[in-house]
Amino acid sequence: MGELTMRTAARLARTHLLVVYRALRTGRLHGERLTEHEWSIREECLRAWIGRQPCGHDGAVPAAGGAAPAGNDALPAPDGSPAGPAPASG
Ligand SMILES: [Zn+2]
Repeated sequence: MGELTMRTAARLARTHLLVVYRALRTGRLHGERLTEHEWSIREECLRAWIGRQPCGHDGAVPAAGGAAPAGNDALPAPDGSPAGPAPASG
């Protein structure tokens, strides 16, 4: 996973820079604002935005005309994934 600039994101999405900028401003595309006109965009968020799919960060979008309910329940993920690739036998 990498962090992309707006220019890189626009190239990958094959769209205009302003389209990416507007998506960032409106919150449709997730990104971290670095400066006034520069954003840091996660690659996973960009690909989700291109494919019009949720990237997993959705859910914290404030609804218009209503305050978001308080409550931040972050459950720890169960540790059931194997560490590293399985050794091939043969
Ligand atoms: Zn995201």
